[in-house]
Amino acid sequence: MSYQIAIDGPAGAGKSTVAKAVAERLGYIYVDTGAMYRAMALYLLRRHIDAADAEGISEASRHADITISYVDGAQQVLLNGENVTGLLRTEEVGNMASASSVNPDVRKKLVELQQALAARENVVMDGRDIGTCVLPDANVKVYLTASTGCRAKRRYDELSAKGEDCNLEEIEADIRERDERDMTREFSPLRQAGDAVLVDSSDMTVEEVIGKIISLVQGK
Ligand code: C5P
Repeated sequence: MSYQIAIDGPAGAGKSTVAKAVAERLGYIYVDTGAMYRAMALYLLRRHIDAADAEGISEASRHADITISYVDGAQQVLLNGENVTGLLRTEEVGNMASASSVNPDVRKKLVELQQALAARENVVMDGRDIGTCVLPDANVKVYLTASTGCRAKRRYDELSAKGEDCNLEEIEADIRERDERDMTREFSPLRQAGDAVLVDSSDMTVEEVIGKIISLVQGK
């Protein structure tokens, strides 16, 4: 049986940084499921499909073939054979991913891909519904969160460091809107699994959060 670590939580909680580091230390594969939803969103944006057009999204999602590969341990996302990894982390794609991920056809397709990956490899997988839906029997489940202000500031620092022009209030409003949508959607909403350990990273360093998760794995 493969070993599965599930890390869920809201946008900007630091899931990917932490999950990547934990995977590296344990020699596991890091699976960024948000990147899969983002690749689907990129496909929809390129086809000019409206975020509110549920039927259009369902239909288009059938033609988006999303696959994952690894180069030097880093996840690459291929969309119909094109490596789109570098195009996924923009606010436009993130907002479309949040809107289109409510679609059950999109979720079904990507969840199947995630489950197939986790069946073959030891994984650290991060997302919104990993502990509750994708890997309900994961060996370790973590719900990683932080205050809204704290998450907005982190995203602001990250975007500013990349030279992107951004505004803290707008980012905070965006995060609130995305949380609301992720937590209230009908299918697989973001919530803490009953058997997940809650980690609030507001006053923790990245290293402390990594240490906490490794200790959960070692304690099992
Ligand atoms: O984590 P990231 O910001 O890359 O995810 C983008 C969007 O994809 C999220 O806002 C969420 O709506 C969606 N998502 C999801 N389920 C996952 C991962 C991401 O619905 N497992």
